Amino acid sequence: MTIKKKQSDKNKSDQIVTDARRNQELREQSYRGQALKLYPWVCGRCTREFDHKNLTELTVHHKNHNHDDNPSDGSNWELLCIYCHDNEHSRYEETRFGSSTANKSTTPVSTHNPFADLKSLLGSKS
Ligand SMILES: [Zn+2]
Ligand SMILES: [Zn+2]
Repeated sequence: MTIKKKQSDKNKSDQIVTDARRNQELREQSYRGQALKLYPWVCGRCTREFDHKNLTELTVHHKNHNHDDNPSDGSNWELLCIYCHDNEHSRYEETRFGSSTANKSTTPVSTHNPFADLKSLLGSKS
């Protein structure tokens, strides 16, 4: 293989971008594939079950929210349906901007309950 004349700097950088994107896609596919092999196709939150027909609605969540952290034992992955996944991320944003103490906890943060007000509102109605 010989190196061609360097008229293609732009093509080359395009190629790099394409490669990076493809690598990312491959990586996503591979961890998704691995996670789907490792875990039953059930949402970890609402326990909704999935099969080949609706599998696109089942997503792989990274427990530590680091998408580059993909241990092959699956310890950083959790299968969540798209709704619970959304939820999980908005809660993460909440805790991140709120108190930073309980970031690693897998249990819901009990100090801040967004439904407390709602509950008292509903309660006062009756
Ligand atoms: Zn769910
Ligand atoms: Zn996620």
